[in-house]
Amino acid sequence: MPFVPVTYSDGAPVLSSTGSQRVACAHLAEWLVTLDALNVARGRGHVTFFQTMGGADASAGTHTCGSAWDMKYISDAAVMDAREMGAAVWPRLAKYGWTTGDHVHGLIACGDNGCNAYQYAAYWLGYNGLGLSGVAAGDPLPKPSARRTWREGIAWAQAQMNTTTTTEDDMPRLRLDTQGTGWFLTDRGAVTIDTTDDAKILRRVLDAKDYLVAEDRVLPGEIAVYQKYLARANGTTVTTTAGAAIDYAALAKAVNDDAAKRMEN
Ligand SMILES: [Zn+2]
Ligand SMILES: [Zn+2]
Repeated sequence: MPFVPVTYSDGAPVLSSTGSQRVACAHLAEWLVTLDALNVARGRGHVTFFQTMGGADASAGTHTCGSAWDMKYISDAAVMDAREMGAAVWPRLAKYGWTTGDHVHGLIACGDNGCNAYQYAAYWLGYNGLGLSGVAAGDPLPKPSARRTWREGIAWAQAQMNTTTTTEDDMPRLRLDTQGTGWFLTDRGAVTIDTTDDAKILRRVLDAKDYLVAEDRVLPGEIAVYQKYLARANGTTVTTTAGAAIDYAALAKAVNDDAAKRMEN
């Protein structure tokens, strides 16, 4: 199969140090776009590629069939992401005895594996892919949580990116504590709570797990109070003034209604 250009997730071409376009089999090129996107989504920045298709790799021709790539080592977590995406991939680091430059070497089992199928097999047997049959030494890292094809790996990565773009991180679980003279929010540093009523509301919001879906449990005004202190804890300002109007009568009614509902149940 013909090799195709490798691009980053933003569409920019992946070039070699001499400026030539890096190429790979069409499957790896598609997979690497997703790997790059996942790394960006994780806050690691773009992948730094050292090689895709080519003959210069120290591991004896494993890049000549188009399904292998080398990249800069960032962290074990980044390698594990590539493993979760279905690749056979190892950190090649001095601490594991690698002497010719730290990097990460990986390949996907896409059918273009005439030059490196033995490494994929060795990977799943728990070896490091080096030496005869790739079984020179043990694998320094654990297996992924599931064995996925490269296509399933792309789907897994896309699910990860969807998860990381939800608002979960915007709504951390703050903790309300009394420290000596007053109420404080912790987990984001100590933030003083202005009034006892605010502290009661915060207690209620913080205790209401999944309060955003349980809209009948927490009033909009209460969420606004929570958001005010969340912003304070984060050092930002609230852009709306919705928090100003707390309807304490409605709050009392909601509490009573809630108690009545529980009686019925
Ligand atoms: Zn391929
Ligand atoms: Zn390599």
